[in-house]
Amino acid sequence: MKANLDPEERALRPKRLSEFIGERPFIRNLHIFIEAARQRKEPLDHTLFYGPPGLGKTTLAHIIAQEMGVRLFTTSGPALQRPADLAGLLTQLETGDVLFIDEIHRLHPSIEEYLYSAMEDYRLDIVIDSGPHAKTLQLRLKPFTLVGATTRLGLLTPPLVARFGITIHVEYYSKSELTQIVLRSAQLLGIQIEERAAEAIAQRSRGTPRTANRLLRRLRDFAQVKNNPYIDETFAEEALTALHIDPAGLEEIDKKYILTLIDRFGGGPTGLQTLAVAIGEEAETMEEVYEPYLIMEGFIERTPRGRRALPRSYEHFGRSPVGKFPSLFG
Ligand code: ADP
Repeated sequence: MKANLDPEERALRPKRLSEFIGERPFIRNLHIFIEAARQRKEPLDHTLFYGPPGLGKTTLAHIIAQEMGVRLFTTSGPALQRPADLAGLLTQLETGDVLFIDEIHRLHPSIEEYLYSAMEDYRLDIVIDSGPHAKTLQLRLKPFTLVGATTRLGLLTPPLVARFGITIHVEYYSKSELTQIVLRSAQLLGIQIEERAAEAIAQRSRGTPRTANRLLRRLRDFAQVKNNPYIDETFAEEALTALHIDPAGLEEIDKKYILTLIDRFGGGPTGLQTLAVAIGEEAETMEEVYEPYLIMEGFIERTPRGRRALPRSYEHFGRSPVGKFPSLFG
């Protein structure tokens, strides 16, 4: 949950669409949808962002409210326990306001049903009491925009997904985009850094702006303690090595995944469920949060028979791939 972000991280958040780094078609489209809604003086359509954590979904929810000139109310799926929690939020909204629900896949099914009429007809039918005395209280809502974010699109029910007019897949960032993000953050934080040092950070940030910002701040700690006001490439490489940051940006869970696949299952193919049990993680989390990066970077592949480690995994961890890839290794 990001509700209690520290002030520095909040300061790094782009506030306008024009500050949001990355050449994505969805940015241009979002610009148009916002402009069109503003011209018609209507709220923006309900918008769903999905993709791995730390790629800017919450940031985009804030940007939408800012660009539309409306207020933003933030909550999350697990925080909405009772229908009254949802009703309390929805009835506060003025025309056009944005309600941001993070981790929307963790919404309780009964709450989700209330959301249907709220999203579609700006109406909330609350059932009071139960049994023969049950009464329905109908609350009228002001037209608002629901912005949902999820790392797990597959867990959302089709009726909920269908109620979003705009659905956007937020994907990993390229090294050059992450370099720009590091340089922008460094400027905001008053850190002097060479472009090549920013690239070294980008290289290890697993396509994720949040990770890039975190590494930048760790390097700032090193620079401060070592009394080195200017972070150049050599300094960055040394500090990143001292911090034991994996050169490809892999995290503990990624390492465990790959090494389990190689050492316990002979490199695969291994079914996702089997692998997930061996690692002690949920299969869906592996599939939607960790695997996309490993696939994009060529560490593993998904085959009809299961997951398979690719040569890059063997090279990265110094394991012998002999016999695994006859065409490559003879
Ligand atoms: P998510 O909601 O997807 O987990 P956030 O919106 O919290 O991710 O983003 C994490 C951090 O990464 C933000 O605080 C912001 O500083 C930075 N960030 C994300 N996307 C961008 C971007 N496109 N340009 C610049 N900074 C970004």
